[in-house]
Amino acid sequence: RRPFPSVCKILWLNPCKFSFFRVMIEENYTKERKIPMSDCIFCKIIAGEIPSATIYENDEFKVILDRFPSGEGHALILPKNHVPNVFEIDPAQAGRAYALAAKLARAMKEVLGFTDMNILQNNGPIAGQTVFHFHIHLIPRREGDGINVTWTPTEPTDEQIAAVQAKLTNLI
Ligand code: 5GP
Ligand code: ZN
Repeated sequence: RRPFPSVCKILWLNPCKFSFFRVMIEENYTKERKIPMSDCIFCKIIAGEIPSATIYENDEFKVILDRFPSGEGHALILPKNHVPNVFEIDPAQAGRAYALAAKLARAMKEVLGFTDMNILQNNGPIAGQTVFHFHIHLIPRREGDGINVTWTPTEPTDEQIAAVQAKLTNLI
């Protein structure tokens, strides 16, 4: 998934006097994919540059407690590679992240004694994402906890529903 040809190809094939800059662009692009992004707080946490309360870790994911939690046990599942959101994550990695969410959810429930849980994941600022490194929220729910993750239901007609269905059917 490299949008640019290799550095060698650029140097060899590109007579453009700006080829030096194109090489630099490619280097930065490659670095961004391979090493933690310097301005990403979750990459810094993963690299150990910023402390976090880690509750689980494997080769691919780190699970930490949210620093500003909705309540006791609010945790975040972070892929160790920098990937901004659901639109860019490898779907297979998203699957592994959710498998981990399912395992943790039942284990946390036992230990903390809550009854219910919201598992949610924001993508983009309009959707409420504030840290642009993919993460899954594990939000324990208890009677009367005051947490609000609702929206106002709308009432489209059957025709409107069918029009949306027609647009979205057989996309993948
Ligand atoms: P988002 O709004 O992007 O879906 O969620 C980001 C979450 O990261 C928020 O719930 C916020 O409290 C949490 N958060 C922000 N900065 C830090 C931090 O430095 N450490 C930890 N552990 N959580 C953080
Ligand atoms: Zn990151």
